[in-house]
Amino acid sequence: MAKENSLPRHIAYLLFPRRCCYCGKVLPPHDEACGECLAAVSRIEQPACPHCGRAAQECVCRGHKNLYTAVAAPYYYEGAARKCIRRLKFSGKTACAQFLAREMAISARSAFGQKAVDIAVYVPMSKKEIKARGYNQSRYLARAVSRELSVEFGDGLLVKLYETRAQRTLKAGERSGNLAGVFDVAEPGRIRGKTVLLCDDVITTGATLNECARMLLLSGADEVLCLAAAATKMKNR
Ligand SMILES: [Zn+2]
Ligand SMILES: [Zn+2]
Repeated sequence: MAKENSLPRHIAYLLFPRRCCYCGKVLPPHDEACGECLAAVSRIEQPACPHCGRAAQECVCRGHKNLYTAVAAPYYYEGAARKCIRRLKFSGKTACAQFLAREMAISARSAFGQKAVDIAVYVPMSKKEIKARGYNQSRYLARAVSRELSVEFGDGLLVKLYETRAQRTLKAGERSGNLAGVFDVAEPGRIRGKTVLLCDDVITTGATLNECARMLLLSGADEVLCLAAAATKMKNR
């Protein structure tokens, strides 16, 4: 007689094989990640710099403060995490958001300590950008993070009013000017007096997060904390 449950489990594995959470390669049933990715995971150890989110040896801000109180991320934007974020961003692998959000929530708890977050929001894209990609990857991240941390999900609260030149095409000094007045808060009443967790996929200079934080604070938020899936290293910028 067949062992109880062995057949359904076997069929389930054939239908939904276990995949590497970073690159998507099919794995043996009990593994979480493939050997190649595990060897190429570049984590940001806590405590890291609260102003730029990098560990001390990679700090890019030299203590320069932003409008948000602190920023944290679980990974550097390279190796396995870069693969995973690119699968989320360019291949529509929205399941990657669940995995990344678990790691982001761990970083948030460790970096922000006892600070209680009230609501999670995300860096918005313009209508044209959403039409081009079909979705906003940061929305998936924020929604999954809000579930991990059991906080309200502020879907559509931050809006991007018009197109801008891609930040990566600009020099560091041009980035904040490119964004002035681009973002707005749709329902200020929902963030008034609250601690807002602002989520994004990758933090580079922090100019986008800073501009979003400006609008959240102008609209009455008490404090803004930022959480990204990864932070670039200086040499990768
Ligand atoms: Zn892998
Ligand atoms: Zn720093």
